[in-house]
Amino acid sequence: MGGTFDPIHYGHLVAAEEARHDFQLDLVLFVPSGQPPHKTDRAITAAKHRYLMTVLATLTNPHFAVSRVDIDRPGPSYTIDTIELLRQQYGPDEEYFFISGADAILELLTWKEPERLLGLCEFIAATRPGFPLTALSETVGQLGEQYGARVHVLTVPALAISSTDVRQRVASGRPIRYLVPETVLYYIEKNGLYRPRVPSPAEEAPPLEGRGDEFTADEAPADEVPAPAPSAARGDAP
Ligand code: NAP
Repeated sequence: MGGTFDPIHYGHLVAAEEARHDFQLDLVLFVPSGQPPHKTDRAITAAKHRYLMTVLATLTNPHFAVSRVDIDRPGPSYTIDTIELLRQQYGPDEEYFFISGADAILELLTWKEPERLLGLCEFIAATRPGFPLTALSETVGQLGEQYGARVHVLTVPALAISSTDVRQRVASGRPIRYLVPETVLYYIEKNGLYRPRVPSPAEEAPPLEGRGDEFTADEAPADEVPAPAPSAARGDAP
């Protein structure tokens, strides 16, 4: 299962478990993206945090595991490279299904080496409530007829939860309990993830008075920074 997992939430976990059951999978391997290929619009949380949250969330399911294959290689996490590496690791004779969000999978013709990728694995496109299913089945049909793509659609009501919503909730102080596993909740709190950045005291300092310009204490030219009080710092008081 590929995704940015920023952060992982119960929607991802339910989708993974549904896919495991419906397609009789031995293992669902969660593969957090290193550098998501199509993401340029926002900063992504450091890979080590997304990886650790994914490990914490999947710990208790014996059919789930997490792979570092995408985060350990530099550059964009192209799925063709991911699948090739996993085939080396788990063997070329295994059957591979790439599970991800329907929005991502529907774009797969724009991915790196799509035709070769289509020959290496089947796809499971997880949809959230409200996803336009008629348009989806038309696109899936076209992908099958024109390119031989094997794309299955999995409707997952729990995908009403989204990572975007979880991040926004944390940023605005709203609860995320029951949207993410407790371990992930504690990890987010402990590491201060998704909170608005608190300005440093230097950033908050008012401009120096009486000069009429915009310098803060840190930015003031060296000859204008007040000298430290004599002797106090050296402990040589009289
Ligand atoms: P994304 O833009 O973060 O997600 C697109 C949508 O799919 C979002 O609504 C997202 O919801 C949902 N989604 C993502 N992962 C999901 C999952 N595992 N299960 C259910 N829903 C999921 O997509 P992305 O993370 O960048 O890309 C998804 C996967 O496709 C990654 O493994 C990525 O490497 C691969 N990909 C490959 C190429 C390529 O090879 N050129 C290009 C694009 C994507 P949430 O935000 O709630 O997760």
